[in-house]
Amino acid sequence: MITLALSKGRIFEETLPLLAAAGISVLEDPESSRKLILPTNQADVRVVLVRATDVPTYVEYGGADLGVAGRDVLIEHGGAGLYQPLDLRIAKCRMSVAVRDDFDYDNAVRQGSRLRVATKYTAIARQHFADKGVHVDLIKLYGSMELAPLTGLADAIVDLVSTGSTLKANRLVEVERIMDISSRLVVNQAALKLKRDQLKPLIDAIASAIPADPAA
Ligand code: ATP
Ligand code: MG
Repeated sequence: MITLALSKGRIFEETLPLLAAAGISVLEDPESSRKLILPTNQADVRVVLVRATDVPTYVEYGGADLGVAGRDVLIEHGGAGLYQPLDLRIAKCRMSVAVRDDFDYDNAVRQGSRLRVATKYTAIARQHFADKGVHVDLIKLYGSMELAPLTGLADAIVDLVSTGSTLKANRLVEVERIMDISSRLVVNQAALKLKRDQLKPLIDAIASAIPADPAA
């Protein structure tokens, strides 16, 4: 049995065409089913639905043989014990710094002020500001980062941005792009050895279906 860990929503939706290229179709819709284990048209392949941030953990400890996780999630997790053979180029967005539109970020950085930064992505934020030599107090949040600068909780946030419309709706502006984000295939290292005959063709079929890189 091959177990694939996916999160509901964009990662599930955008992974489906890649699975189709490997001849795999998921037999139930996670939005309408309450099941956490979904069968596929292949008796020896199943999908388990987990929180996006739990995908690396499932794969690391062998609760799943492979999974799909955002670069953001993988950096925060640390990636230990995971083989990351493919950038799937799905669920694309970027990690950015944003502030209230009336906050002079460049000036605050120039003055060497200590910034209060709210984020779910503390590892990425810590590294980014350390690289810039900016002193920060990080405030860990689990969601709705946009609210932090509006309430005075923080001067800045580090968050995922795709169109920018959520920032705009909350009078925030993107002041720095930290990195481009997309989702990757992650594979349990022991499973890759023990189930290589099943996993290798699956990984190869997925690789052949990755969307073309518009920048290439
Ligand atoms: P939830 O939103 O249910 O709290 P989550 O934020 O962990 O969970 P998703 O919103 O489905 O889960 O995001 C999953 C992954 O998709 C993220 O880790 C990131 O890599 C990517 N992602 C997040 N937001 C966007 C976006 N607006 N556009 C494109 N990709 C995104
Ligand atoms: Mg989300």
